[in-house]
Amino acid sequence: MKTLLVTGGAGFIGGNFVLDTLAAGGWRIVNLDALTYAGNLDTLAAIEGRPDYAFEHGDIGDAAFVRRVLAGHRPDAVVNFAAESHVDRSIDGPAAFVQTNVVGTLTLLECVLGYWRELPAAERAAFRFLHVSTDEVYGSLGAQGRFTEESPYQPNSPYSASKAASDHLVRAFHHTYGLPTLTTNCSNNYGPYQFPEKLIPLMIQKALAGEALPVYGDGRNVRDWLYVGDHVKAIGRVLEAGRVGEVYNVGGDAERENIHVVKTICALLDERRPLADGRRREALISYVKDRPGHDRRYAIDASRLKSELGWTQSESFESGIARTVDWYLDHQDWVGRVLDGSYRMERLGV
Ligand code: NAD
Repeated sequence: MKTLLVTGGAGFIGGNFVLDTLAAGGWRIVNLDALTYAGNLDTLAAIEGRPDYAFEHGDIGDAAFVRRVLAGHRPDAVVNFAAESHVDRSIDGPAAFVQTNVVGTLTLLECVLGYWRELPAAERAAFRFLHVSTDEVYGSLGAQGRFTEESPYQPNSPYSASKAASDHLVRAFHHTYGLPTLTTNCSNNYGPYQFPEKLIPLMIQKALAGEALPVYGDGRNVRDWLYVGDHVKAIGRVLEAGRVGEVYNVGGDAERENIHVVKTICALLDERRPLADGRRREALISYVKDRPGHDRRYAIDASRLKSELGWTQSESFESGIARTVDWYLDHQDWVGRVLDGSYRMERLGV
C-alpha cells in the first residue's frame, strides 16, 4: 500500500480529505499537524488506531521534525493543507501567516526535496508534492470574468499574500529543482467540520441560537462556493492524474452573494428549527462595518480540471448548503466542544 503524507489533516479540508481517502482505500495516511486552534482531532476520532493511519504532532516549519517524519514513514506523495487560513486573523496578525504559509511551506519543500532526491529512480519519478491553495491569490474581480490558471496574482489580504508566496515557492521548486509538484487553487469551501469562525458555520450557530447575524458591508460580496466533499475529490484526481508542474483551479460554478448565503441558512433553519417566539431569522441580520480590503467577487473557471481530469462537482449550492445545515444540526456535540475549548484542552493536556 502506498503512503501519503498529509499536512494539516486535522483542519477542515484536510480532515475531510483524510476521512474520504481512507474510506476509498488504496493509501496509508500519515497526518502531520501542529494542532493550532484550527486543528481538531475530534474530526478524526473514528479513524484513530487504524493500521492505515498515523498521526504526527508537529510543525511544517520544524525541519528536524519533518525530516524525521519523512525518514520514518517514507511517503510516496505529500499533500500540503497546513496553513493559517482565516482572513480576519491575518488582518489582526499577519506574522503567523508568513511564518506558517511562507516559511513553513519553504521548510517543508526543502525537507521534501532532500528526501525526494535520495529516492530510487522509479519512486522519484512517481513521487508527487501537491500544494493546496486558494483562488484569493488572484485578487478581486469586477462584475464580469472568472479566474483562470493564467490570471495574474494580485493578493489583497495578508492571508492571500502569504498563500501567493507559497504558491510561487512551490512553482520555483519545480522549475529550479525538478520537484514533481502540483498546485490546486480552490474557491471558498463549506461543509462538515468547518471551524465555526468561518461565514457558513458561524451563521448557522448564531442563527440557531437566535443571535444577531453580522454581515460585512452591504452583503453583496460574491464567493464561488464549493462543497468540501467535491474539493477533496478534486484533490484526489489531481494527485492521481494531474500533469507535473501544473496548476488546477477548482470551483463550484456556484457564485452567490454573502447575503444570499445568510438568507438561505435562515430559511433552512426556520423550516427545521423554528424560533420559539415565531420570528423569522432574516430579521436577525445586521450589517456591520466592512472588512478592510474586502475582495468584491471571486469566480473560478475550473475547465482545465474538468476537461483534462474529468472532475465535476456533485453538489449544487442548494443541495450542499442543506446538507451542511443538517450536518451542523446533527453534530452540535462537535461544535460544542470547539466553542467551549475542550477539543483542544484534552488533546494538548492543558
Ligand atoms: P484550517 O485552518 O481548517 O486547517 C489548517 C490545519 O493546518 C489545522 O489542522 C492546523 O492545526 C494545521 N496547521 C496550521 N499551521 C501548521 C503548521 N505550522 N504545521 C503543521 N500544521 C499546521 O484550514 P482549511 O480551511 O482546512 O484549509 C486547508 C488549506 O486549504 C489551506 O492551505 C487553505 O489555504 C486552503 N484553502 C482553503 C479554502 C477554504 O475555503 N477553507 C479554500 C481554498 C483553499
